Amino acid sequence: LLRQQNEKKFRISEIFGPTIQGEGALLGQKTHFIRFGGCDYRCVWCDSMYAVDPTQVAQLPQMDVDEILDRLELLPMAPWVTLSGGNPALFDLDDLVTRLHYRGIKIAIETQGTVFKDWLGAVDLVTCSPKPPSSGNMTAPSTALKFYEKWESKRFYTGKFVFKIVVFDDADWDYAKIMFKDRQDLECWVQVGNPWFRGETMDVTRMLVLIGKLRELSERVLADEEMSHVRVTPQLHVLLWGNARGV
Ligand code: SF4
Repeated sequence: LLRQQNEKKFRISEIFGPTIQGEGALLGQKTHFIRFGGCDYRCVWCDSMYAVDPTQVAQLPQMDVDEILDRLELLPMAPWVTLSGGNPALFDLDDLVTRLHYRGIKIAIETQGTVFKDWLGAVDLVTCSPKPPSSGNMTAPSTALKFYEKWESKRFYTGKFVFKIVVFDDADWDYAKIMFKDRQDLECWVQVGNPWFRGETMDVTRMLVLIGKLRELSERVLADEEMSHVRVTPQLHVLLWGNARGV
């Protein structure tokens, strides 16, 4: 069985780091990133379309777990690995998770919460980012909450689960309120939408626009008693390094 798992290959868009996790519950944490190619969504503002568009994904190298671990070993050390995409929850990553843990590395994953796999119960941090209306393919709140319930039934006691919703406009804020307002039991984050794609220039004027949006979002949270438990995250990596890839 181990042999079969080792023979599984995944389309890998990029493996990079260490860098600083720029958003959410691990903000500021040194981590490597593994970006898997393939996603069940097509968000209009996706900043990783090179890991989503099937034509581009088909060009990506296929790597098995040994090759992924070998590539990570060539990089300077980091205590965390973040599995990103695309949607990494589409894939059978049990073996990768087990072997990273065996090496003492903690694992975070980012997914929209449409597909559950049992191995998600073993990772150290699950960030579920259900997609709001502005994405063009809204995740039904019931789908995201079912994903959380499945994780709760499979979780190891050390694991943590957070929700994070990107807010571009009023409809997205209303969506975040539907998801979060009566869920003081959950760790809930909102994040400013970044209207510029990865690879696009991020000049000072655009940075100031993003900081202005971050202030607006913070003020929305401050003004809304029903959202008092909700935390606001910037995209620190964008403020530090713009929309460059590989950071
Ligand atoms: S779910 Fe994430 S990776 Fe997939 S299309 Fe939407 S933003 Fe891009």
